[in-house]
Amino acid sequence: MDFSWTEEQEIWRRTVKDFAQKKIKPHVREIDSDKKIPDEIIKGMANLGLLAPTVSKEYGGADLDWTMACIAAEELGRADISLAIPVLYLVEAAWGFIFNRYGTSEAKKEYLPKVTSGDNFLGIAVTEPEGGSDIVGAAKTKAVKKGDHWLLNGEKMFISGITESNRWGGIHLTLARTDPSAGHKGFSFFAVPLKNNSNVETTLLEDMGRMGISTGGFSMDNAELPENHLIGEINKGFYYAMEGFSAARVLIGATCVGASEAALELGIDHIKTRKSFGRPLGTFEGIQFPLTEHYANIESVKLLNYRAAWTMDKMYKERKFSHHDVALAAAMSKLRAPVYAFAVMNEVADWLGATGYTKEYPIEMGIRGVRSYSIGAEGTMNIMRIIIARELLGKEFLPYK
Ligand SMILES: Cc1cc2nc3c(=O)[nH]c(=O)nc-3n(C[C@H](O)[C@H](O)[C@H](O)COP(=O)(O)OP(=O)(O)OC[C@H]3O[C@@H](n4cnc5c(N)ncnc54)[C@H](O)[C@@H]3O)c2cc1C
Repeated sequence: MDFSWTEEQEIWRRTVKDFAQKKIKPHVREIDSDKKIPDEIIKGMANLGLLAPTVSKEYGGADLDWTMACIAAEELGRADISLAIPVLYLVEAAWGFIFNRYGTSEAKKEYLPKVTSGDNFLGIAVTEPEGGSDIVGAAKTKAVKKGDHWLLNGEKMFISGITESNRWGGIHLTLARTDPSAGHKGFSFFAVPLKNNSNVETTLLEDMGRMGISTGGFSMDNAELPENHLIGEINKGFYYAMEGFSAARVLIGATCVGASEAALELGIDHIKTRKSFGRPLGTFEGIQFPLTEHYANIESVKLLNYRAAWTMDKMYKERKFSHHDVALAAAMSKLRAPVYAFAVMNEVADWLGATGYTKEYPIEMGIRGVRSYSIGAEGTMNIMRIIIARELLGKEFLPYK
């Protein structure tokens, strides 16, 4: 066992941290109020290889492994605790990887170079209005083959990156039933462009946080797709979705660690200087003890998360672990990381007193942003518990068939 970083990992962290602290951190409040990530930041991220970084070099990606991808996620979370940029990063890193792995070469050539250069957005569309957790029971979207193309009908809801896709172009990896009688074995994945698609209508939702990236939905009314926009094998879409979710959950964990550490650092600065009853706040046990608990929680989730990333790297590079091992590790990380992050931000808001409730500090953006992860983005907490229980007890103990 070796807990040290390689030189390459250390250089990568320093490079991303330097960029994120200088070019992202000063703009986070503006991103939150303008509800838009400035183009210069997107271009800067592209230049550094931070857009869909897990995509192969052939398509402009950086071919990053998951440990390296998590290092970058952590640094982006540290710089932008509103979590808008981290969300853009992790969605493209996780789902770009799936598209790169299973998409047809024609479709990849068409979109991936533009995704990695920041000219297109790549998102994920699984959730439907009638439910995200029970997608097998709730999904109504269908795809039917007509000659040499596909026709998609249905609606996706609570989808990240609708405005970005409308503005920049790009695709959402969209799950649709191709064999409605086959349950989870009857789904396929498609690359669906939203921009200038006359048979696709988009809507927007007003979120509470991570305002720099939009959330909304889209409906497809006989949306026509070329044959090569089917991703991977027909009726394997559900498995690809589960693979992508594990990756996204591990990256979420890493963004939470970075954001938690940033919040704690801010809190530590404050309690060392702010005085009450003639002494710095940090001298009171009532302040110190929660500080130590939060610190220990963040350290434990960091270890859990990097172990999950390591498990993924071992699975993809050496086939040492299975998708079940990865799903378990990712679910544990996603179960803990957003809850600890929320708790530390909430605590620091208390330490800040009344200013903690103002927009003077970024804490309130963090509280609003991180809640998206525990409410549901990339799977709810109870779904994480169901995955963990499935791995501990066996799938015959699942609450559904
Ligand atoms: C900000 C944001 C961005 C998102 N972006 C995307 C995106 O880009 N693409 C995408 O496809 N989806 C996205 N989602 C949707 C997300 O995946 C869903 O919200 C999530 O899967 C939950 O689905 P739901 O909202 O329909 O809640 P439901 O499935 O209706 O669940 C409601 C509640 O019931 C609980 N519950 C459900 N079943 C059980 C059970 N068996 N046992 C115990 N409790 C249960 C859940 O844990 C939850 O607390 C996003 C969500 C948010 C909040």
